Amino acid sequence: MELTSLTIESARAAVQERRTTAVVLVEKYYAKIEKDDPAIGAYLTLCKDCALAKAAEIDTLAAKGEPLPPLGGVPVAIKDVMVTRGVRSTAGSKILCSYIPPYDCTAVARLESAGAVVLGKVNCDEFAMGSSNENSAWHPVHNPRDLSRVPGGSSGGSAAAVAADLAVAALGSDTGGSIRQPASFCGVVGLMPTYGRVSRYGLIAFASSLDHIGPLTKTVKDAAIILRTIAGRDPMDSTSADLPVPDYVAELEKPVKGLRIGVAKEYFAEGLDAQVHSAIEAAIQKLAQLGCEIVPISLPHTRYAIPVYYIIATAEASANLARFDGVRYGFRASDAKTLAEMYRRTRDQGFGAEVKRRIMLGTYVLSAGYYDAYYLKAQKVRTLVARDFAQAFKQVDAIVTPTSPTPAFKLGEKVDDPLAMYLADIYTVTADLAGIPGISVPCGETKEKLPIGLQILGKHFDEATVLRVARAYEQAA
Ligand code: GLN
Repeated sequence: MELTSLTIESARAAVQERRTTAVVLVEKYYAKIEKDDPAIGAYLTLCKDCALAKAAEIDTLAAKGEPLPPLGGVPVAIKDVMVTRGVRSTAGSKILCSYIPPYDCTAVARLESAGAVVLGKVNCDEFAMGSSNENSAWHPVHNPRDLSRVPGGSSGGSAAAVAADLAVAALGSDTGGSIRQPASFCGVVGLMPTYGRVSRYGLIAFASSLDHIGPLTKTVKDAAIILRTIAGRDPMDSTSADLPVPDYVAELEKPVKGLRIGVAKEYFAEGLDAQVHSAIEAAIQKLAQLGCEIVPISLPHTRYAIPVYYIIATAEASANLARFDGVRYGFRASDAKTLAEMYRRTRDQGFGAEVKRRIMLGTYVLSAGYYDAYYLKAQKVRTLVARDFAQAFKQVDAIVTPTSPTPAFKLGEKVDDPLAMYLADIYTVTADLAGIPGISVPCGETKEKLPIGLQILGKHFDEATVLRVARAYEQAA
């Protein structure tokens, strides 16, 4: 069985029909991880014993001829910002180097109840802060399509694991683009659901009003299967929406003819790579050929999105990260004489440079003298960004844009220039600020064979349309 061609459905069917067993499948993935991952660096922690035990349970069901659950026997990878009971969860940070959570993230628990087999935890930027995965406290991730390049971030391990066939699918998190941007850099599908669609319980918080969990997969259909599994109200997260979850897989089959697709001029501005630009233009043509109506629109506040995001995200991060004090979780500096010194040294030694930069920035914008000028102002502009979308969605059913202004850049290229790094999210942060869903779907490649991603954004809680357009494009491309 070729791992490269496996999807959720084909993996499950192979186990169900006894063409292989879940145990054999898991062993094959671990063999491939052992062989290929040293050069890629996607995994941080493997959980072989749990995975093999879970696979054996699925095989018992299959042997009895019982129908397997929707992800029965499907090997998956989980971004290390999601807690997993009994399995080390570091969020890519030294400060959680020894943290073994006593509970499971809801999204992970839901995948496992649907039969998925968790192979391990995958690498990410520290506390999901980054666009290249170079902020991991452990080691960077290399893009499987070109090892000298970054896989994107912060869910770089998730994207690389799927692109390199080190898992059938993965979960990632997106606060400013961290599912969609790495998906585009690695040539896989990445879906950010509407804020509130998927519970954040057990997601180690970065910026609570912006954090989303979602799938990275090889196909749009796989993304629909995972979303159907993890979505829905969770009493453990009061911001999770109490709305019915559509059958996203069935919805994929509806035609896209007649859908109105918005194209915003603000997303084709200075800084957009010429090859990315022409790939996106070709994708828009393709959608027109499929019978979609292409509608020019404007999202005038787009240019404020990056500054607004970096004020709100850092403000929330400074509050969320206050809990890492050496008392409650993981790492504690050993050389302190007083309590205050212990806090200080733990945080100094435990957090990396980018995390410290953000805690300082966030503390500053929330401080008494600057709150109105920065934080409050940013909140107001966030509302304007959201209103741009609300206005646009009166005219259109979905919006297409490039996912990222450039293809994957070289490792080291932007590490010393945080502002250049922040601009990698220029097309993705707007959806996080507005809380709307978005997907990145592969859309050709550059002359250098680097993948390009097409972003499709939708109305609040209308993932079905986003997925449907993505699938129609995927099949036509
Ligand atoms: N790259 C952005 C940041 O560094 C977004 C990260 C994310 O979505 N988690 O904050």
